[in-house]
Amino acid sequence: MAHKIKCLLDKISEAALPAREDIEYILSLEDSLSLQRVFAYADILRAETKGEAILLRAIIEFSNVCRNRCAYCGISKNNRGLLRYRLSRDEIMESVSRLHAFGIGTVILQSGEDPCLESAWLVSVIEEIKSRFGLIVTLSVGERSFEEYALWRNAGADRYLLKIETANEALYRSLHPEMSFARRMRLISELKSLGYETGSGNIVGVAGQTIEMIAEDILFFKKMHLEMVGINPFIPHPDTPLAHHKAGSSLMALKIIALTRILLKDANIPATTALAHSNGSDARKDALMAGANVLMLNFTPEKYKAYYTLYPHLIRESGPITGYKDFLTELAATCGRSIAYTEKALREQVCA
Ligand code: SAH
Repeated sequence: MAHKIKCLLDKISEAALPAREDIEYILSLEDSLSLQRVFAYADILRAETKGEAILLRAIIEFSNVCRNRCAYCGISKNNRGLLRYRLSRDEIMESVSRLHAFGIGTVILQSGEDPCLESAWLVSVIEEIKSRFGLIVTLSVGERSFEEYALWRNAGADRYLLKIETANEALYRSLHPEMSFARRMRLISELKSLGYETGSGNIVGVAGQTIEMIAEDILFFKKMHLEMVGINPFIPHPDTPLAHHKAGSSLMALKIIALTRILLKDANIPATTALAHSNGSDARKDALMAGANVLMLNFTPEKYKAYYTLYPHLIRESGPITGYKDFLTELAATCGRSIAYTEKALREQVCA
């Protein structure tokens, strides 16, 4: 058995495009010994390509206004009870200056699909972050026109996250009323063509999703040569149509993380915040030992955090920044790893 799994993982790792059945076989494994082998295989690859340092990113959730009605998402337009907010430019800069002082080299600016987000305003925000702090800027503001993506890229934005959520068209349609799967696919390609380091990812364990569909997601990540892949177990939110559905499995998310590392080698794969909140325990450490190499810290101003509720949070990420530092150092130490605050620090560690 051990030999069979090792051979299969070698085959998957070496293939230009692995067979879907091979991916499905790994996704179907349940015994802990086999799974340990899969996770250890991914962990070794992660060590070779990314080194021992866990990269830190800071996220600022600058608006929870959204025009979409994604069935799983707590900031859906349909959620009329939610108080909506939008950070001012000064509030964003205040958060950026805090995370810069903390030593973090990358900021993710994320929001719902806010129809009032003006492209020129975001240009000026990007330019100010670049000129004052010299940070790597990642955008995650949903579907916009090619021209706007180009404008933000020219203003200095380095990376863009746009999740496919599921690579299965029928499932995509059932989760995203009024949205187009073809458009989503096209936009991800356009982001790549503009020279963004492009991230995507999926949501795991929504009703109707099968192992075959998850294998399609993983093959999609490979075909698109993604630079970043975020994998979220589905967490039911009480004010959405999926409120009474079962949560996605953290274990399945870990298998997807491991396979994504084995297929994509070089990608940056976060131990996502959703993994910290699903199935009753924080699975981020397991993710970091199954192929993941990135952690995110939330720098949204305290008074808005409670309103960026994509899903209910088990752990409130609040309190003084020094608390974060201790938490991260401890988490890294339990995996025998260190923390890199910037990409430069990471490169130096890999090359050392
Ligand atoms: N509006 C932007 C990004 C914000 S949403 C965009 O469309 O790209 C960030 C991510 O949170 C989503 O891509 C989705 O994968 C995840 N998410 C939303 N609701 C969730 C839930 N209930 N459980 C798990 N992940 C969820």
